[in-house]
Order: sequence, then C-alpha cells, then structure tokens
Amino acid sequence: MSQPGPRIVREQRTIRAMTRLYCRDHHRISDGLCEDCENLLGYALRRLGTCPFQEAKPVCNLCEVHCYSRSMRLRVQDVMRYSGPRMLLRHPLLSLWHMLDKLRPVPRLDWKTAGLKDKGGDSG
Ligand SMILES: [Zn+2]
Repeated sequence: MSQPGPRIVREQRTIRAMTRLYCRDHHRISDGLCEDCENLLGYALRRLGTCPFQEAKPVCNLCEVHCYSRSMRLRVQDVMRYSGPRMLLRHPLLSLWHMLDKLRPVPRLDWKTAGLKDKGGDSG
C-alpha cells in the first residue's frame, strides 16, 4: 500500500480536527470521538486515502467524483458546515490551506485510463 502524499495527509488532519470540534459540541465528548463520529471519520479518512486525484485533489464539495455514499455525504456536510467557520479560530493554518485549495482548478478524471468503474462503493 502506497503512502499518501502531504496533501492527503493534511486533508486527513483537517477532517479529523473538524470531526473533533463537531463531536465535542454536539455529543459532549471532551476527548476523542463518540462511536458515530469515529465511524464517520474513519470513512472519510479511507475515502481520502483512495481518492483518485491524490495530490491534485480538488476540495471535496467541488469534486465531480462523488465517492461518498449518500448518507455519509450528508453527515460529513453537516460536520463541515458546523466546523468550517470555527476552524478559522482554532486551526487557522489548516483553514487557510483549505481556502487556497478552493482556488485550485478542479481536475477531470479520465475514467477509462483511471480504470475505475462509474460507481464507487468497493469497501477496499
Ligand atoms: Zn460524536
């Protein structure tokens, strides 16, 4: 298994911090995560690890590859909506990076050369 690049590692840190923030305020967990959030985070980290763009990755909400299942997508959107603005105060550097990422061009995936099926959902 190949190691993720710095970009993916940073995104994993960002989503981890966001999930912590969300869980702490919504589920009253002071340290770590409740089981639900732990599952959600694990899912998000795996999706990042298998993102076909890796270092050229766009921010997830602009990406054309909808690699999240519908229910997970809704949950992660909830976390991002809540934690996004709050990240600025708590993790200004991670937020700044994320804002810069939003300015990147959104790459298009050539499905044929990438050798992917048009639907995700393999559990890897
Ligand atoms: Zn939680």
